[in-house]
Amino acid sequence: MAKDSFDTLRVHAGYKPEEHQFASSVPIYQTAAFGLSNTDVANQIVAGKLPDRFDYSRDGNPTVHVLEQRIAALEGGIDAVAVGSGMSAISFTILNVAEGGGRVIAPTNIYGSSLDEFRNFFPKYGINFDLVDDVNDFATIKSLIQEDTKAIYVESVANPSTEISDLEELAKIAHAAKIPLIVDNTFPTPYLLRPFEHGADIDVYSSTKGINGHGNALSGLIVDHGNFDWANGKFPQFEEDEFILGDEESGEKNSYLSKFGNAAFINRIRSKFVRLLGSVLGPTDAYFVLLGLETISERLNKQVASTVAIAKFLESNEHVESLFYSGTEASNPLVAKYFPKGVGSILSFELKGDETNIAKLIDNVQIFSYLPNIGDAKSLIVNPGRTTHREVPQAIRSKHQLNNQTIRLSIGLEDVDDLINDLDTAITKAFS
Ligand code: PLP
Repeated sequence: MAKDSFDTLRVHAGYKPEEHQFASSVPIYQTAAFGLSNTDVANQIVAGKLPDRFDYSRDGNPTVHVLEQRIAALEGGIDAVAVGSGMSAISFTILNVAEGGGRVIAPTNIYGSSLDEFRNFFPKYGINFDLVDDVNDFATIKSLIQEDTKAIYVESVANPSTEISDLEELAKIAHAAKIPLIVDNTFPTPYLLRPFEHGADIDVYSSTKGINGHGNALSGLIVDHGNFDWANGKFPQFEEDEFILGDEESGEKNSYLSKFGNAAFINRIRSKFVRLLGSVLGPTDAYFVLLGLETISERLNKQVASTVAIAKFLESNEHVESLFYSGTEASNPLVAKYFPKGVGSILSFELKGDETNIAKLIDNVQIFSYLPNIGDAKSLIVNPGRTTHREVPQAIRSKHQLNNQTIRLSIGLEDVDDLINDLDTAITKAFS
């Protein structure tokens, strides 16, 4: 097996046991700060001249660092930054790309908090969003690009509809306009899709989900492909001299581009946003993510197969109005193009009847847990209209058939026949 194949990297990348007492499992460096040895060494550490040394866990931590290196390797990126949640990964990425104001193009059928942030929060800081209902309506997206448009942002597989974004076409549009394509790849995880292979420039994750796989910690990741030209004149924040990158005594001056070159974006995330705004990932939580990553391929293979079986069961159930799962759309060319290993372990469906039937279904499942998360080893059920997507206004919901009859499932590692029986029984009870 090649040294850099996905399954080898997920258990080894970014970790050198010889630097950690040959510990097999990545040690948890549960400490706020690290000794500076002596004043000479201290000066070198704080100037970033000793990359193997750490000083303060808000600036960097060895356990978190292994996770960052591992995810960068799995994605095929140059570097990554781990943060306290998926929302901070998204927020820091948007703030970094559109600092000082500007516009971002994004679709409307995305995770509820992301949409809320784009519609109602970032505009207050001068970052406005041009929202499109169809992420693959390339003509509309092109027509929305203006002088101050800073990025196109999409979910590779939308939450909860599982609609697939045509990343290659979107990357072409973005790059023709000299702006990056930012992809929230939370649903597929890098095991099912590596957006950089299709032109994406920055990937963001809620690694709370399938990357961790066990629902035991919140975390987020930002990964930089390292291919985007931040010196193209549209992003002055990377070109201006930064006080913290220079040296007042010697008169040395540096911008993120002059100091970090093609790694300007990700280093700016680390040393500006994480250092100044916080949202640091703790080492114990980073350890949980690393542990989960070790089994990502086996988990996803089983979960995808079970999800397809459950989708087929739901499709033929008389009480199901419609199914939303790209994974069983045999005629969808985007499935073959991007997802040879399957689309993922999340699906949604609309139940017939009314909210009384929804309540009875949810109240009668025995194996599925009713909670607002995805990508757990346990199967989960939720009514997104009332929970995860409550921030989505009616006008947008109706365009995406997202209503209070919608149920979202995240399929775990239980026996698939038990899961189907559980749903079958609960749906029958919901209508009896
Ligand atoms: N992106 C997607 C697609 C999500 O589904 C979620 C959470 O459900 C997030 C981002 C936010 O992640 P977190 O809850 O880790 O902040």
